[in-house]
Amino acid sequence: MAEFALDLNDDQKAVREWIHGFAADVMRPAAAEWDEREETPWPVIQEAAKIGLYSLDFYAQQYFDPTGLSIPMVMEELFWGDAGIGLSIVGTALAAVGVLANGTEEQIGTWIPQMYGDANDVKVAAFCSSEPDAGSDVSAMRTRAVYDEAKDEWVLNGTKTWATNGGIANVHVVVAVVDPELGSKGHASFVIPPNTPGLSQGQKFKKHGIRASHTAEVVLEDVRVPGHCLLGGKDKLDERLARARERAKKGGERSEMGVPPAGGRGSVKNAAMATFEASRPAVGAQAVGIARAAYEVALDYARTRVQFGRPIIDNQGVAFQLADMRTRIDAARLLVWRASWMAAAGKPFEGAEGSMSKLFAGETAKSVTAQAMQILGGNGFTREYPVERMHRDAAIYTIFEGTSEIQRLVIARTISGVHVR
Ligand SMILES: Cc1cc2nc3c(=O)[nH]c(=O)nc-3n(C[C@H](O)[C@H](O)[C@H](O)COP(=O)(O)OP(=O)(O)OC[C@H]3O[C@@H](n4cnc5c(N)ncnc54)[C@H](O)[C@@H]3O)c2cc1C
Repeated sequence: MAEFALDLNDDQKAVREWIHGFAADVMRPAAAEWDEREETPWPVIQEAAKIGLYSLDFYAQQYFDPTGLSIPMVMEELFWGDAGIGLSIVGTALAAVGVLANGTEEQIGTWIPQMYGDANDVKVAAFCSSEPDAGSDVSAMRTRAVYDEAKDEWVLNGTKTWATNGGIANVHVVVAVVDPELGSKGHASFVIPPNTPGLSQGQKFKKHGIRASHTAEVVLEDVRVPGHCLLGGKDKLDERLARARERAKKGGERSEMGVPPAGGRGSVKNAAMATFEASRPAVGAQAVGIARAAYEVALDYARTRVQFGRPIIDNQGVAFQLADMRTRIDAARLLVWRASWMAAAGKPFEGAEGSMSKLFAGETAKSVTAQAMQILGGNGFTREYPVERMHRDAAIYTIFEGTSEIQRLVIARTISGVHVR
């Protein structure tokens, strides 16, 4: 197990500098344009692919870093650059984690490379769990997967919503119900290979923030996939369902998104949970990146903006806000790094550390970007300055990957042992 340390090693520092350069030189100048266009920034993803930043190799290297600090460090720098473009670059990773968390080695080797494509032919992937009536309440999911034994195929029907890269992805990972009696324990994840008939994009959403990231419905109509597209394989699923049926006899349960906690990598409660639990600290790190970006703009502005014959930072009312912003950002980063280190070290999140990191970082991004707008006054409210966009982008961090309320539910249940509702 890696020693706990808050120092990044030389390799990590070099990677951070490299990503910071890309974020500053490529992402930032493109941010306002793609926010306005509300389209996937393919040219930027391609540029990232050309330098190896958008690639399976790069993410695998970061993911398996034994300190656990590489992924949050990468996320923070990219989202410091721009959140909408950042999500377009890392959105594929959520689907990849879905396969890593639930798939066999063969499935990992087959599908994850196809999610990224290559520098000449860049692809993205989508993870589809949420449905119109099943957001926080994952157990209300209706998309059904039925096994056709004669053909060794699964047949999927249903509608997924709010899927990042939904419909434009080369590979979709879809969570579906295989046993409706078992609630979220009766779910399984499937890979839908490229160009599979029956999968189509529904409505593409117009959003408040992260507008460069594509979010859409995914409609599944008699989608047939080979048996080997069931992540983890049929034997493992049958064993898991048998265990769940045994437990269900002793008393039913309902599962909200990410409740209860799972823990270190590979600790699987159910298909969607395993993906969200693994990705929570990384999502927190994205929020830290947005907050840091807005804080830096506000700090610079406060030093140079003169009112009443002195820079506005000379006023405690402004300087103390900046002090609080910086303190919260650092505290959020520490929670994120702790959870990431625990996950890498195989330590279970017994104190809901993953949820704490996402909750605090998400709320920090929202409040710090609001404070930054306040410090910029009228300019903060215009699109001439980036904090307005950052504030819009930050708002999603208290909503997706488990809302702040759901994170609090996880934490409350964990600390109390009470099934708080
Ligand atoms: C831009 C964007 C991208 C997304 N990307 C993906 C993706 O790639 N894949 C995917 O599967 N999903 C994705 N989602 C879906 C996202 O995870 C859900 O929106 C989120 O889980 C919340 O679900 P909901 O919107 O249905 O809200 P609801 O569950 O309807 O919640 C509404 C409100 O009620 C509160 N609430 C609900 N239950 C409780 C409770 N028990 N206690 C207290 N409060 C409660 C919530 O906190 C929230 O404030 C995305 C969403 C967005 C907006």
